[in-house]
Amino acid sequence: MLAGSTTRILFAIRPTTTTTTTKMFTLATRSITSSKKRETVLIDDNVSLYQNAPPPLPFNSPLKHDGSTITTTRILNDEEGIIDVDNRSKLVGSTIYNHIKSIDLETCHEDALDPFYVCDLSKLNHLLQLWHTKLSRVEPLYAIKCNKNPILLSKMVSLGLGFDCASKNEIEMILKLGVHPNKIIYANPCKSIPYIRYAQENEINLTTVDNLDEVYKLQKYHSKCGILIRIQTFDQNSTCPLSVKFGADKKYAIELISKCKELGLNLKGLAFHVGSGCNDLNTIRLAVEDSRYLFDVAELQFGYKFDTLDIGGGFSESTFIPVAETMNHWLNLKFPHAEFGNLKIVSELGRFLSSSLFTLVANITSKRGGSFKERLYLNDGLYGNLNCVLFDHQVLTPKVATSKGVFKYFETCGNLNSGITADESNDDKLANKEYSIWGPTCDGLDCISPNCKLSHEVDIGDWIYFENVGAYTSAASTNFNGFDVVNTKCLYID
Ligand SMILES: *Cc1c(COP(=O)(O)O)cnc(C)c1O
Repeated sequence: MLAGSTTRILFAIRPTTTTTTTKMFTLATRSITSSKKRETVLIDDNVSLYQNAPPPLPFNSPLKHDGSTITTTRILNDEEGIIDVDNRSKLVGSTIYNHIKSIDLETCHEDALDPFYVCDLSKLNHLLQLWHTKLSRVEPLYAIKCNKNPILLSKMVSLGLGFDCASKNEIEMILKLGVHPNKIIYANPCKSIPYIRYAQENEINLTTVDNLDEVYKLQKYHSKCGILIRIQTFDQNSTCPLSVKFGADKKYAIELISKCKELGLNLKGLAFHVGSGCNDLNTIRLAVEDSRYLFDVAELQFGYKFDTLDIGGGFSESTFIPVAETMNHWLNLKFPHAEFGNLKIVSELGRFLSSSLFTLVANITSKRGGSFKERLYLNDGLYGNLNCVLFDHQVLTPKVATSKGVFKYFETCGNLNSGITADESNDDKLANKEYSIWGPTCDGLDCISPNCKLSHEVDIGDWIYFENVGAYTSAASTNFNGFDVVNTKCLYID
């Protein structure tokens, strides 16, 4: 939420009947209080949730073949590139509401309760603006492995972004979107020979290496390719360290420079990655210092004047400001503009550009009661979009979108402290129950949250949502046990 903003949204919707969740909503009351205006509006099923909002989409509106549709156009005005959580939540909430309001459990299509994403594409502009204000010398590329949603990618193409691809399929996908090969970096230091040939045939002329064999492969199969040496970082403290797998230490990097020189290869610079979810400011300093050291060695000992520095990814929105300021500080100190004005500095952003764009909404299909702790079973889980619990070490905060059929998103969204783990609070306002939350498959591993409290009591047919789940979620989901969430429907806000 904007600092100093006083906008609050209070929202209540009464269900038609108190006993069933079959027809969920009829009447809504809204009260918005802000420094500028105060209003209360009564609305019913046929009326938009917000005066400004576009009319709700008819529920049966045809979806595109990929299961996607554009439901909401952007109507709210965000100033100065600052992200106003409340305005965004309004759009996300009304999109969720429009999607679920008329689902009738007794008569709906068998897929009607399937989980769905809401994707706020408009937020991308804000993230990029924020990036440019803090790291104006660094050109952002998008690391496609993080989330390859085709509409997100198209939006990025339209914004002129370049891409970090790690495989033939990723390269192919980006080329098909009409991106020029020189906007693609094949940023995988360990590539198969046929993939290198594919890159050569498609004029992908920039890649990374961190070992001598890769240098030989490039010499043989793509000798004109621009090369960046991927150096290791001290990223043990990052959420997902990458230097356990990739990166040459300084001594080995010098060997690689020497070999490139001997073979007459097109060595252009260095690449590093400080680990995904990096908050350790020292890691950043060391990576930039090591880079400068190797730039000097390359020039003084081997006569290479490097022209590219790739600072990788690792940024997350929650820690962006201090991390970006630190990166900027060390870049300016070690690669001062006066001396390195022509240096091309690029980054490969994954998490930072995609995480907060996506909200996942899943349905409670079953429960196993118990007076104290109840098991809830959702129709998405660790084998599906929420694999981030396993692969990306994320701790998810389940939030209540509907409680016994009553729409609660506007009470629980955004920064409000509505998803609270059992140990954290015994706030009276919370439902007393503790829950464990499970995915739909028959595996005991499929546990989304072993112990949590929810802001409201929930029942079968209610909807639970997860915010900030655009990074490393759908990218690795499976159809295990027949729960097809690989093509989870997505509703877009733009
Ligand atoms: C995964 C990856 C990225 C993106 O990392 P984030 O932490 O999501 O920003 C960038 N570059 C390379 C080489 C990667 O492997």
